[in-house]
Amino acid sequence: MNLLIALLICAGPVDGEVLRQLLAVDTSHGGETKALEPVAQRFKSAGVPVQILESSAGRGNLIARIAGTGAHKPLLLLAHIDVVPVEGQKWNTPPFQPSEKDGFLYARGVSDDKAMASAIVAVALELAKSGQRPSRDVIVALTAGEETGGFAGVRWLVENHFDLIDAELALNEGGNLQLDESSQRVDQVGLQVSEKTFQTFRLTARGKGGHSSVPPTDVDPALTLARALVRVGEFRFPAHALPEVKGQLAAAAAREKGPLADALRSAAASAPRVAPADEQVIGRDRVYNALIRTTCVTTMLQGSPQDNVLPTAVEAQVNCRILPDESIDSVQAALAGAIADPAVEIGRVDAFGSGGASPAGGEVERAVRAAAAKLWGDVRVLPILQAGATDSRYLRQKGMVAYGISTAPGTLDDQRKGFAAHGANERRPVRWLPEGTNFLRQVVHELTH
Ligand SMILES: [Zn+2]
Repeated sequence: MNLLIALLICAGPVDGEVLRQLLAVDTSHGGETKALEPVAQRFKSAGVPVQILESSAGRGNLIARIAGTGAHKPLLLLAHIDVVPVEGQKWNTPPFQPSEKDGFLYARGVSDDKAMASAIVAVALELAKSGQRPSRDVIVALTAGEETGGFAGVRWLVENHFDLIDAELALNEGGNLQLDESSQRVDQVGLQVSEKTFQTFRLTARGKGGHSSVPPTDVDPALTLARALVRVGEFRFPAHALPEVKGQLAAAAAREKGPLADALRSAAASAPRVAPADEQVIGRDRVYNALIRTTCVTTMLQGSPQDNVLPTAVEAQVNCRILPDESIDSVQAALAGAIADPAVEIGRVDAFGSGGASPAGGEVERAVRAAAAKLWGDVRVLPILQAGATDSRYLRQKGMVAYGISTAPGTLDDQRKGFAAHGANERRPVRWLPEGTNFLRQVVHELTH
């Protein structure tokens, strides 16, 4: 029997079971070890060497390794199992209790990134149980703290245990499997080759403080900061289309309708230049806007600790996502120029380093194209820039060739409505999740047979 068919037959519901187990553990504030222990048990039972390394109490990172023949250097399969918090969000189902409704699986982390973690576990276990030796070691890393900068996870592993994850190629989150509007077929396979740089700035305005019954009559730091934030909100970084974005715009033009489709088509044709008229239209769509420019948005606000106390400092955190050809310095300078008020201090919150890129057209792209063709015929496969940031930056900084894929098909509409990563009511269509695992299985097969 062909190895692949054998793998498909013995796949069973492992990915679904692991996914539900992972989703049922709240990893929004640490606690990754608890979620990983049952997974480690599965690897142990399959005779796969596995360990959970904690960067601090409860913050586990699982590393398992399936030995290959050594014909090629290792392949790293990476997923993070922490999730963003749900506080302040209005969920229709308990976020840490996977719930099926109307064909969707709802739970925090189902799209980011526990579906990928469970697909990795399923594919790795199948490989181990098949008794076949892959042409390279396959390393599984299920990690902590990606959503808070990777300090508890990949960055910590890179700094302290790099030998355990050192690989030639890495597959991480960050790509996409985009369904058409009716969720009937896979419309596009996005292979993330580059990502925006994540940088948060702290804006501070200071005051004298005191009793709120005698408010300042000259300078109120809350108003100073509020004016600055309005200017930041209205400021638009210049638009341009990078080479990997050009293809994304062309593909989007084929999918969209009306003036938006026209503007996308025109911008793809004129890339890297984006004409002002096209920019006007594209700039109104939050998904495409993020592809053609650096963006900055206010995400956190802080004033006085109590309602009857005047603040001595009012602070905002402005989160910027910087196109890979622009620098953190230039963005800070642009913000300072837009705010144009020396009373507002601009500082940087943790620097995570820049996103970096992996080459398009290499063996991973070939493997992804082959896998997609096998599963979904002449589906479009596209190298993409990702607006979000992933742990791939730490791997790319070490010279690893890292790519973002996805194992959780979803529609663009869900992303726009906020049902995807980080949103309330995060969900994925249930029937497509096994297809995502099939995709990973095929890609891994292409890279290891
Ligand atoms: Zn993620």
